[in-house]
Amino acid sequence: MEEMTSAKEHPMTRSHDDELNRAVAHLNGATRMVALTGAGISTEAGIPDFRSSEGGLWNDLHLMVSLSSWGFRLAPERFYRQVLKLIPPLLKAQPTRTHYLLAEFERMGKLTTVITQNIDGLHQQAGSRNVIELHGTYRRAHCIDCHHAYTFEEIQNKIHQQELPPRCHRCQGLIKPDVVLFGDLLPPEALARATQAVRECDLLLVLGSSLVVYPAADLPQRAREAGVPLLIVNLEPTPYDRHAEIVIHTPLGEFSQFIGDRMGLKLHPPGASPQ
Ligand SMILES: [Zn+2]
Repeated sequence: MEEMTSAKEHPMTRSHDDELNRAVAHLNGATRMVALTGAGISTEAGIPDFRSSEGGLWNDLHLMVSLSSWGFRLAPERFYRQVLKLIPPLLKAQPTRTHYLLAEFERMGKLTTVITQNIDGLHQQAGSRNVIELHGTYRRAHCIDCHHAYTFEEIQNKIHQQELPPRCHRCQGLIKPDVVLFGDLLPPEALARATQAVRECDLLLVLGSSLVVYPAADLPQRAREAGVPLLIVNLEPTPYDRHAEIVIHTPLGEFSQFIGDRMGLKLHPPGASPQ
């Protein structure tokens, strides 16, 4: 008797297949989903998790200071030398099946918004249009004095010409990537849009986020207050697992392949032929 009660309260104790089948039912029925994506979706695309507890770059104190907002202001050349080491995996990365799954849901009119903690731009590359980037993007930059906008390619050209740190051609101000650095405030407008989106959706998909870094850790709570069910897919347990309708601890790629097969969706680049 007691066991049955606990099985009901703790979705983790249900079988994997059971959870996947329930996920399909929820996804089929949803008409205005929101997805919240974290580092797990990018690591499957080959991008290292800067903040992971094991072997994460943030364990290197010097690197963390160099890449903080103070490091940028005090030693911009060193900041850019560190950034250059992080760029190659970002340039090589391609969207995963999970990125394409979310783009397909949006195209079908079932998903309104992707909220991401990642800075790699892979959601847009996969075809998602309404993407809220809580931590910004490496693909754009701006002058900290006159706010002139620069593309990643323009910054790359300056660096190739040994301009380190790259400076604004209009006012000689420092150019800063549009990434939220350690010590930066989160963009309030993006945070407000994200909070509104999770409160108004009919299913919040949490994919590849451990839900410990603010503000991602806060958004599922906002959804729950509005009565929105949670579907969590993450390799590791999260603090919200016991509050979620469905919890699946599996690699995102496997989850997305299963969902794609069951719902008859194409999870590949637009124009490419299925494998
Ligand atoms: Zn400028």
